[in-house]
Amino acid sequence: MVLPPNYKNYPIWLTIDVEKVEDANFGITPKKPLNIDYPKIIEDWINLCEKHQVKSTAFVLGSFAKEYPQVVKRLKEAGHEIASHGLRHELVYKLEFKEWKKETLEAKKLLEDLIGDEVKGYRSPSWTLPFKREYYEALVELGFSYSSSYFPFKTYMYGNSIDKKQPFTIYTPSGEITEIPIPKQLIPFSGGFYMRILPFWLIKILFSSLIASGHKPIIYTHPYELIPNLFRSFLKSVKVDLAYFLTFANVGDSLKRFDRLLESFVKDRNVAGATYTSYVTWRMRQDSRAEGDKEE
Ligand SMILES: [Zn+2]
Repeated sequence: MVLPPNYKNYPIWLTIDVEKVEDANFGITPKKPLNIDYPKIIEDWINLCEKHQVKSTAFVLGSFAKEYPQVVKRLKEAGHEIASHGLRHELVYKLEFKEWKKETLEAKKLLEDLIGDEVKGYRSPSWTLPFKREYYEALVELGFSYSSSYFPFKTYMYGNSIDKKQPFTIYTPSGEITEIPIPKQLIPFSGGFYMRILPFWLIKILFSSLIASGHKPIIYTHPYELIPNLFRSFLKSVKVDLAYFLTFANVGDSLKRFDRLLESFVKDRNVAGATYTSYVTWRMRQDSRAEGDKEE
């Protein structure tokens, strides 16, 4: 396997979409309140990242930040990047454009007031940002410098049919923005439902081949995926249907899975986990070097 020359510096991007399980758009209908200890789950996540000396980018939903402001502050204090996951987890294409833009600004400001720092990144709820220039232009106008909303696999709810493995720049009349798509190798594999149902040996092969071909693996997860034994513990409180399967299949194993995955990539292969902003900065440096090479 031929590795890219700067392979050792290749970061994995670890991302977590910080929302409540009821926020996912699969229509989970709890019969009684789900007592989930979100502060504890996030603490487990922070500890796992500390163990492997990596940082993640946390795309925080506005409604979650309102309910758990201390959790967001804790993530920030632990050195994780705080980015926005929108306000209410509504599917973007179902909202009026103006309404979506207004809510996206509100969610960004809410986080910025909370952490006292600029929020640069956006990930649309359920990958539903339409791949249209006007939406990216709006993100530029709202002050975002990157988005990670492109899912290169079409499903009934979200996704795009064109595969895009590399981050790319979108030029708009108001400025430019980087879109960092989720990777796929024939199928998506690096997070959520996909990562939960595929066997671990296959996940490792898919990540390795992606890295070997010079691409940057992006991992994504959600707090509720990190709860041990969740699948069984919710059987009594949630209606068991397809939504239940998509949301909870194989949940409970994820924290262990991330532990093993990070173990193999961070330790054995010296691949660092990093935040998106560090990636965008790195890429800009690469781009300006390439420009310099051309001028020489
Ligand atoms: Zn989400």
